Amino acid sequence: MPQFCDVALPVPLDATFTYRIPEGLAEPCVGGRVIVPFREKRLCGVVNELHDREPRFTAKSVQRVLDATSALTPDLMELGRWIAQYYIAPIGEVFRTMLPLSAEFHRVVGYRITDKGFAALHAASTAGSSLRSRKDTSHQMLEYAVLNRLGDGEVVREPTLRSASGASRAVLQTLLRKKWIARLDLSDVRDATRTIQIASLRNAGGKFNSNQKTIITYLQGQKGLCATVDALRELGIPRSTLQTLVRRGAVELREEPAAFRVSGIKPRKLEFLFTPAQRAALQQITAAAEERKFLPMLLHGVTGSGKTAVYLSAMQAVLVKGRSAILLVPEIGLTPAVAADLHQVFGDQVAILHSALSDDERAEQWKRIRNRESHIVVGTRSAIFAPVPDLALIVVDEEHDHSYKQDETPRYHARDVAVMRAKMCNAAVVLGSATPSLETYYNALQGKYRLLELPERIEERPLPEVEIIDMRDEFQRTHKDTPLSRKLTEEIEERLERGEQVMVLLNRRGYSAFVLCRECGETIQCKNCSISMTYHKFEHRLVCHYCGYLRPAPTTCPKCRSEFVQYLGTGSEKLEHLLHSMFPQARIARLDRDTVRGRTDLERMLSALQTGEIDLLVGTQMIAKGHDIPNVTLVGVVGSDAALSFPDFRAAERTFQLLTQVAGRAGRGDVPGRVVLQTYFPDHYAIQFASAHDYRGFYEKEIRFRSWMHYPPFNAVSNILVRSEKLDEALTWSGILAKWFASARLDAVRVMGPAAAAIVRLKTEYRYHFLAKSASRERMNTVLRAMLEHAVKEKIPRTNLVVDVDALSLI
Ligand SMILES: [Zn+2]
Ligand SMILES: [Zn+2]
Repeated sequence: MPQFCDVALPVPLDATFTYRIPEGLAEPCVGGRVIVPFREKRLCGVVNELHDREPRFTAKSVQRVLDATSALTPDLMELGRWIAQYYIAPIGEVFRTMLPLSAEFHRVVGYRITDKGFAALHAASTAGSSLRSRKDTSHQMLEYAVLNRLGDGEVVREPTLRSASGASRAVLQTLLRKKWIARLDLSDVRDATRTIQIASLRNAGGKFNSNQKTIITYLQGQKGLCATVDALRELGIPRSTLQTLVRRGAVELREEPAAFRVSGIKPRKLEFLFTPAQRAALQQITAAAEERKFLPMLLHGVTGSGKTAVYLSAMQAVLVKGRSAILLVPEIGLTPAVAADLHQVFGDQVAILHSALSDDERAEQWKRIRNRESHIVVGTRSAIFAPVPDLALIVVDEEHDHSYKQDETPRYHARDVAVMRAKMCNAAVVLGSATPSLETYYNALQGKYRLLELPERIEERPLPEVEIIDMRDEFQRTHKDTPLSRKLTEEIEERLERGEQVMVLLNRRGYSAFVLCRECGETIQCKNCSISMTYHKFEHRLVCHYCGYLRPAPTTCPKCRSEFVQYLGTGSEKLEHLLHSMFPQARIARLDRDTVRGRTDLERMLSALQTGEIDLLVGTQMIAKGHDIPNVTLVGVVGSDAALSFPDFRAAERTFQLLTQVAGRAGRGDVPGRVVLQTYFPDHYAIQFASAHDYRGFYEKEIRFRSWMHYPPFNAVSNILVRSEKLDEALTWSGILAKWFASARLDAVRVMGPAAAAIVRLKTEYRYHFLAKSASRERMNTVLRAMLEHAVKEKIPRTNLVVDVDALSLI
């Protein structure tokens, strides 16, 4: 047995740590988890290497081995190392992201009395009542209550200690400072397996009352004659009835792990009427998956061209061969209805991973995949790390979507990780979109990716006709400052009369965008961020959309006390009110992050739209994402081009994508769709090409701009952010790094900055940044690593320095 192991720990340090494997412990394995002491804590890490090289320091010992076989398979370990290298992320944090098993490691702290504490306790008891006679002794009394509870010398867990003594955290802190007690980390594994109760039918003979009969008939209707007790509860029959049936021996109850499936749903054969283009694409994808050779493909299909049908058929072809496939979808794409559809198609073979799962549920799904119970995985970003065996195909739906990039360490892009994973596994990978990112389309034209195209909608439906309304012109003619043009109003009216549905996009939530004082000119800013606060009328308060800080809506200016405060700008909440007053007979709903708190809200709203209970849906970009509602014949775009003035080189691309996607919601049924696009920039190429459904035209124009400016895909771009709650620290550290960049040998790397970030203060932190560009990723990686080393020497804490490789957001 090897003597030592190197463990990757979830700490912000670019290193692994060597531990001794003590005699008598189970043998750890590479890719398996162990519990080790680290500083004052116990941490759960992943074994990166086993060896016999004695380190120069005295290695501490591994305390516990959690996995007999590797939790991270060799191919996933390799992928993790690549991510750590490419994104300059600590390997332990990468592995933690890849393994959704944190729920099993339970953080617990305990306390023990020290010799000094014993002395104090002894002194207090001999001093007797004198203690109580002093003033302000409540804190002291609590201190002695803690010492008393610990008086037998045992270690006591924090919750037990606090409830027994009544002491707050602050009291424990004081005792720790006085060194009267010591803290111990007792964190350990707990059994995270949830169970569910299953009722199964034993004997259906005999006389039963009507409630009892309902249960028995229900169970008889289930294949396997069993159901979860939760399902029975939904019949609305009291639990006592079930218990009576158990007593009579008609029904038996037992506990099963929650991942247990009550009835085996078999995969269903898909029947699609494919267009020739769909058939051709499907044929190429399945052929590629069968070849066991790495082949990246871009499926560029216009909105409504039936990309999903192609993905599902290709995945089914993979499943039939007994191999595995992963489908990645954007954050919002995975509603319960989609999940239900997937269950229909793939039966119990599908595992679904989305952000609304609890840690325990995520761990369960992960275990099902690891145990080879599901070969099809559908999920958001982190599903790319699913431990499927024999991976044949990865599909990244809406590959341009920004939710694929993680905005915390490790800052990986799931699309790019998907391509790398496919390469390592000799699998096929399909990136699909109606509006591919410039990077992906460029790769396709360069021949790096194979280009598959679906240029037409299914069933020969036309793409919607787009009419541009110049809002400057509209104001000149009407002299009214209203968010809805006469044309859009008229078109909405027509649709409502015909019983058709309408969607209106306004990509800004809240009621008024900002609050301005007419006297001193002050806008009300968040106390944590350099951002104007947005007025929300329903809650009657101001909200910061970046940190969530709230304050009551003011009636006077907080600065000069003037009463002339004005609420300006229109958000989705105000537009909804306005539409209500204009079309009082219409049933109107709003879809944004204020009305959609959880997954069920989104589901409810989409199904109300589907069944025609809503005539008009107002919303932010959430309405643009993939929804397929056949009766929507008009899409109005009220505000979306504000983004064009953002200081971000991707502004035009983003606007083009949003407009094309939202336009794509119109005319997905029998009636052709129309789009009314209001804008203050009618001549901007992003608006022009989006209205002509001309992706290629947009690409040609935008790619020239990217080339001139040395932006992606021609150069890699990394954002280096220096942040601190103290302004002088942020400035000093930026200065140190600027000096280093100026003196270092940068070769083919260009560094701009430091400059104040577009939001100079965010969540109480001041932010300055550098932008690094290079045609050589390797060179850039080397320079950034050298910079981080220098930062360590200069004692700049790693957590105050963010390196974002392939940054998508420069705000
Ligand atoms: Zn004022
Ligand atoms: Zn804020």
